[in-house]
Amino acid sequence: MIYLNGDFMPIEEARIPVLDRGFIFGDGVYEVIPVYSRKPFRLAEHLRRLQHSLDGIRLLNPHSGKEWSRLVEQIIAGNESDDQSLYLHVTRGVAKRDHAFPKGVRPTVFIMSNPLPAPPRELLATGVAVVTTNDNRWLRCDIKAISLLPNVLLRQMAIDAGAIETVLLRDGFMTEGAASNIFVVKNEILLAPPKNHLMLPGITYDVVLELAAANKIRHEVRAVSEYEVRTAQELLLTSSTKEIMPITRLDGKSVGDGKPGPIFAMLYQLYQNYKITVMRGSAAF
Ligand code: PMP
Repeated sequence: MIYLNGDFMPIEEARIPVLDRGFIFGDGVYEVIPVYSRKPFRLAEHLRRLQHSLDGIRLLNPHSGKEWSRLVEQIIAGNESDDQSLYLHVTRGVAKRDHAFPKGVRPTVFIMSNPLPAPPRELLATGVAVVTTNDNRWLRCDIKAISLLPNVLLRQMAIDAGAIETVLLRDGFMTEGAASNIFVVKNEILLAPPKNHLMLPGITYDVVLELAAANKIRHEVRAVSEYEVRTAQELLLTSSTKEIMPITRLDGKSVGDGKPGPIFAMLYQLYQNYKITVMRGSAAF
């Protein structure tokens, strides 16, 4: 069951007009929210980031926090899996094709849900391969825009090379992955690039840094150089659907000793425990 502009329906019945500015211009923003045991994970944070994205494209939020929460609840209840990945999407609506903002147009609001499988155990045990390339995206990567053509092309580079993600480098520094954030372990310190206009402020990224701080894992938030990426002891990838994954190959070469490392193992376990406490409603943060 999906939600589209006020109605709930099976996805097969959902239709949008071809003049929707999401279709014509990619003029919209989105969120992906993981749901565990039918509870949305970090909903308030995802809704805050949605507001940041809407502000970034100068589109009024069509719903209050309460309304979004209610819609999210209804979609979760209307779908089968206990663990789901929710996709929320808002576009500037339907209007005659013209770049300038239309006046008096209602935004299009769409929510769908897919089952959210746990990251495959084999991949957690062996780690995943990534490739690197230059980050050729625009300079507002902090907006979670639906216009994802650069990210699509960048992710496909990884797939074509038999890898799962492309790590992006800009002016000698790492920004993020095509659809994930990247952490580096160097000299036993977890390094994370600072949030700015060059990367998406990941919700999982925040959880990882909070867990590191709460558990006295040494960490620094600062610019991470290409050299540090290439000589890392460990590399980690995070996203709402992939959680935390170990990267063990970079551009065909082993990362560290080529096996998932101790910082990954620690953070992975902390993340799983944290999810369980959140689902029980007793998390400290
Ligand atoms: N960066 C990009 C470009 C992304 O698309 C995503 C999410 N798919 C992330 C980072 C990770 O963000 P989150 O942890 O909120 O899923």
